[in-house]
Amino acid sequence: MELEKIKIKTKCDIPGCLNYADYTLKLRKFWNVGNTNFCKSCLTKMHGEISKVLTPKSPKNILKTPKKMLGEKYDE
Ligand SMILES: [Zn+2]
Repeated sequence: MELEKIKIKTKCDIPGCLNYADYTLKLRKFWNVGNTNFCKSCLTKMHGEISKVLTPKSPKNILKTPKKMLGEKYDE
């Protein structure tokens, strides 16, 4: 799966969105479907939703760090 900046003028694939697409998500390698196009606004909204589900690992680890570990050298 690859996200690329789009060069041709095409519509955003999100239902109800009337913007032109800025980016295209290539899915073909993995599923037998074509590219999906997104405008920057839809991509930003999607990113917000995705980040709710896919939390980066490091902040979670920091929260789980026992109190006695705090103040110790953080080497990751
Ligand atoms: Zn859109």
